[in-house]
Amino acid sequence: MKNINRNLIRKSFCALGTYNTIQTFYPIKEQILDEAINTVLRIHNRMSAFNSESEIGKINKFAGIKSINVSKNTFRVLRSAKKFSKITDGAFDVTICPLTELWKIGRGENTVPTSSEIEKALSLSDYRGLILNEENQSAFLKKAGQKIDLGGIAKGYAADEVKRILIQGGVKNALINLGGNIIALGENFDHKFWTVGIQNPLAPTGEFLGTLSVSNKTIVTSGSNERFFIKDGIRYHHIIDPRTGAPAQSGILSVTLVGNNSMEADALSTAAFVLGLEKGIELIQKYGYEAIFALENQQLYVTNGLRDQFQVCS
Ligand code: ADP
Ligand code: MG
Repeated sequence: MKNINRNLIRKSFCALGTYNTIQTFYPIKEQILDEAINTVLRIHNRMSAFNSESEIGKINKFAGIKSINVSKNTFRVLRSAKKFSKITDGAFDVTICPLTELWKIGRGENTVPTSSEIEKALSLSDYRGLILNEENQSAFLKKAGQKIDLGGIAKGYAADEVKRILIQGGVKNALINLGGNIIALGENFDHKFWTVGIQNPLAPTGEFLGTLSVSNKTIVTSGSNERFFIKDGIRYHHIIDPRTGAPAQSGILSVTLVGNNSMEADALSTAAFVLGLEKGIELIQKYGYEAIFALENQQLYVTNGLRDQFQVCS
């Protein structure tokens, strides 16, 4: 008979502007968890747009002036971010930073920018201005004032990296949660699939719309509930529609993707949020993902592939 109770080990840390936890079971070499955490911290240090000395900070600082050589990891994320910008026809835009900086959502100011400020930032947000050179692994932004923001993709990449390190270290069962970018590996403490709660976007943290039972999958949510303010009845949140320059008003409150690659799911969830239900479904299914959409009209839309795994909270 299997040993029912496993000894849990849980490590939490702050990075990538969020709270992160890795849960797994003994026996495990502590150094594997340390290596995973250090990798996330390194990704944070290299890819933060807030730090002008990070690799992304330098690309932004030298926009219109010169290209910057970056590490393999940063180049990989930039390549993917540009690819998803193209694929989504700019609904995901790697150069969204002038707009996210303008709106400052979640940074306590709660003011709506003027239309001329939005126009100016919109003229700089254009992924086609990001030039990547594969040969020397360098990146260049064509126009002065252009800026990269990897906030919609870096957590997914970091989660994939944590998974890779744990697996290489012999870990078979773990729950990785980097600020809502989740990877469920193997099985939980009582040898069952992991149960992951899907946050109700209109309720306090920890109140769920439902639960998903998963193994060896990533679960990634983009929601308007984490960072937002409400003014004159409008919910201004942190996912910007690059076509209007304002927080996306697509009828979606949150979208959760379930699939295999966390970086891909991260970019696609942000894009699906911008595109709305119909186009969002088309996009995510094209790349092999399933999804749960929580809509402003209080309805839930769950794709067919999740019907057996998703249990609505009553
Ligand atoms: P979360 O960060 O809550 O997990 P997302 O993955 O959707 O949610 O990422 C939102 C972040 O992505 C924003 O805080 C911002 O940094 C960036 N972002 C916002 N709008 C876009 C967009 N249209 N394209 C690319 N990145 C975006
Ligand atoms: Mg995202």
